[in-house]
Amino acid sequence: MMAGFAEEEPMDRSGPAAPQTTIFTVMSALAQRHGAVNLGQGFPDESGPDYVIEAAAAAMREGRNQYPPLAGVPELREAIAAHQRHWYGLDPAVEDEIVVTAGATEAIAAAMLAFVRPGDEVVAMEPFYDSYKASVELAGGTIVPWRLEAPGFRPDLERLGGLVTDRTRMLLVNSPHNPTGTVLDRAELEAIARVAAERDLVVVTDEVYEHLVFEGEHLPLAALPGMWERTVSIGSAGKTFSVTGWKIGWATGPAALIDRVKGVKQYLSFASGTPFQYGIAAALASGPEYYEDYLAGYAERRGLLAAGLAELGFAVYEPQGTYFITTSAAPLGYGDGMAFCLDLPERCGVVAIPNQVFYADPSAPRPEVRFTFCKPRAVLEEGLERLRKGLRSG
Ligand code: PMP
Ligand code: GLN
Repeated sequence: MMAGFAEEEPMDRSGPAAPQTTIFTVMSALAQRHGAVNLGQGFPDESGPDYVIEAAAAAMREGRNQYPPLAGVPELREAIAAHQRHWYGLDPAVEDEIVVTAGATEAIAAAMLAFVRPGDEVVAMEPFYDSYKASVELAGGTIVPWRLEAPGFRPDLERLGGLVTDRTRMLLVNSPHNPTGTVLDRAELEAIARVAAERDLVVVTDEVYEHLVFEGEHLPLAALPGMWERTVSIGSAGKTFSVTGWKIGWATGPAALIDRVKGVKQYLSFASGTPFQYGIAAALASGPEYYEDYLAGYAERRGLLAAGLAELGFAVYEPQGTYFITTSAAPLGYGDGMAFCLDLPERCGVVAIPNQVFYADPSAPRPEVRFTFCKPRAVLEEGLERLRKGLRSG
């Protein structure tokens, strides 16, 4: 023990400013301990394309190893702007409408700290990615859940207006949606846009799965009439180019909003990942065939995992997007997905994520369990085989 630290005075870890270990960390550690097939935390086993890895390595060799500008290296900001123009007809200004961040995670945290004041409310689609609640609470705000219900997980548009109060500061929108795979359609986005405009709210969109849409299409909310001015759109290279460990993300939007995100970001990381930023600039210059192959590969794996889980008796909610499948373990006799998932590594040698951790009250048991298919075919088949054996013997 270090001198001066009394053993009987443990650090106070209660309260919103000291979040607990994430479920992803817990479950990946369990996967390692049991040699389990990890269908929990969403990271692919294979690295992104060689030309992307090479571009980062070349940047390192060329000596691009010092701090980048706060907003990101110009080559990457140019590439992000070109990507937004090509896919969505958006045209963010390279000088002041784009900021590169340490993954989407930093962009989310910086946006919350930039816009949410103590006592403010943020309405977010529930279940929600776990960093949302933590980031809102770090800013002193409260997350207000806008529930997506099984089996369809569509947002109830009638309810949205009623969730907005005098204290609501922001709508936090995630499409394609983790963990349910819902992809918002134009009518849903228009309804959200109407509420945002009527109630004068800032909108933050998390679009990290923008290139993983199997049904429908990805439409950025910022591209709807009148929405650019009030929207911060967040993206990430981690999923699209299979380099989750590089932690290169970005936020785009009007200079007035991006300035405030930058104002916070300069005291979080300031800037990060110079050579990776060059790698992602090369990645974003990929031709359409890259995105087509990427999507086709995942479509096949989605089919494989969905069919396999259904055959095992799970209720399978086929995702329109992302690389996750939400299921219910209730038909197998498990009403408590957390207990099921904690038992699964030892029992079957497989790891999955209980969806209850994505709810405002993460302690309430729920039967939904999330599996990822961002793994090679053979790994998915092995995972299914282990489930088949383990669940039968249970
Ligand atoms: N948003 C969602 C919905 C996610 O699933 C993730 C997981 N990676 C993130 C944000 C974080 O992205 P990054 O790894 O770029 O920080
Ligand atoms: N986004 C990934 C998931 O939802 C994991 C990110 C993390 O480990 N925090 O599984």
